[in-house]
Amino acid sequence: MGNGNKNTWLAKTKRTITSILPVSEERQGQCISCGACCKLPNVCAFLKRSSDNRAFCSIYAIRPYNCRKYPRTESELITEETCGYRFE
Ligand code: SF4
Repeated sequence: MGNGNKNTWLAKTKRTITSILPVSEERQGQCISCGACCKLPNVCAFLKRSSDNRAFCSIYAIRPYNCRKYPRTESELITEETCGYRFE
């Protein structure tokens, strides 16, 4: 993970509070199920792996907005090494 100083509970709290806001129109790409954002800052208890090693959320239908919208803005994106989203 490239930006460890943003991988904190404070950063997660901020993402949670601001998750009611819309996703940036500059976001491109799609989730490729790497599971990296499910480990910010700790490994989520609901993160599971399929038999082909793809990450999936075991409470996907009721997952919180900060999970649904990550990365909502470019400054939120701290999993750029593996994430399928980017900002242009
Ligand atoms: S880091 Fe990006 S690609 Fe990986 S699970 Fe999260 S949204 Fe999907």
